[in-house]
Amino acid sequence: MEKVKQEKFKKLLEDELKLLENELNSVGRKNPDNPKDWEAEPDEEMTTTPDPIDYADEIEEFEGNTAILKELEVRYNEVKKALEKMRDGSYGICNVCGKKIPEARLEANPAATTCLEHVKS
Ligand SMILES: [Zn+2]
Repeated sequence: MEKVKQEKFKKLLEDELKLLENELNSVGRKNPDNPKDWEAEPDEEMTTTPDPIDYADEIEEFEGNTAILKELEVRYNEVKKALEKMRDGSYGICNVCGKKIPEARLEANPAATTCLEHVKS
């Protein structure tokens, strides 16, 4: 891949990574024991509010955050992986068959790690 093009994708990935990190921080926190793992952060009021109805709401919110967090985390790790591949020079190459990933596919998803034929379903 041309350097200029790779730089463009790199910028896109870095921007997305920052964005994802912000979102992850707003719904959760990094697991101190495993920096690759994020966990939903319970609202502080959750432990202090005496009202059982409020408490149920908080639990619901916490569960919602956990679901959002999971999706964000998957995407976050994909983007990170793509940036790692850029560093070791294997960016834009299909994980399965080793062929070049079409640029149109990378335009649509700069974090793609497989060609269209080998997209995980
Ligand atoms: Zn492939």
